[in-house]
Amino acid sequence: MSSTHPRTGVLALQGAFGLHRAVLTRLGEPSTEVRTIEDLLAVDRLIIPGGESSVMAKLADESGMMPVLRGRIEAGMPVLGTCAGAIMLAAEIVDGRVGQPSIGVLDITVRRNAFGRQAESFTTNLVMIDDADPAAEAHDFEAVFIRAPGIERTGSAVATMASYDGQPVMVRQENVIATTFHPELSGDDTVHRLFLNL
Ligand code: GLN
Repeated sequence: MSSTHPRTGVLALQGAFGLHRAVLTRLGEPSTEVRTIEDLLAVDRLIIPGGESSVMAKLADESGMMPVLRGRIEAGMPVLGTCAGAIMLAAEIVDGRVGQPSIGVLDITVRRNAFGRQAESFTTNLVMIDDADPAAEAHDFEAVFIRAPGIERTGSAVATMASYDGQPVMVRQENVIATTFHPELSGDDTVHRLFLNL
């Protein structure tokens, strides 16, 4: 591996960061845990995991990381946000904790816990289409949803890569990919591979 190989970080303030690191290891990709601004400045791309977005946002806010996250992502750092991570990236949050901050770099509106109590968790097969890469073939993959948010609006710069029940569940805006499901839980590495190829 050359010294110019991008360094991959996983935001490790709270939530399912360990499982994302396990997927990266399976793909032969070294990773580090990002807990501080210094950690963040030492990586070239970042995964923001699932967990509890209100807690994660509070910790990121208190540590002063929010503006640094925003600046790095706006400057082009590839980022993958999954479930709570998608909420962290969203421009607009519905049913958030009062005053819940977000990084705000992805032009979507998300509703927290959109699938309701009767569907706290479920697994389904989805078809992914990469609009940004017309040569890529659409393919099936397995998606695990846990107290998932719903994407209620996507801005004009946002491409939908996968939908469930007519609603986007995987979206992309340039260097930002977000999923409302947990790609680290299915044993299907499609989403991580796509992120590493950004
Ligand atoms: N419901 C959680 C939240 O609002 C997200 C759930 C998850 O990441 N699995 O942060």
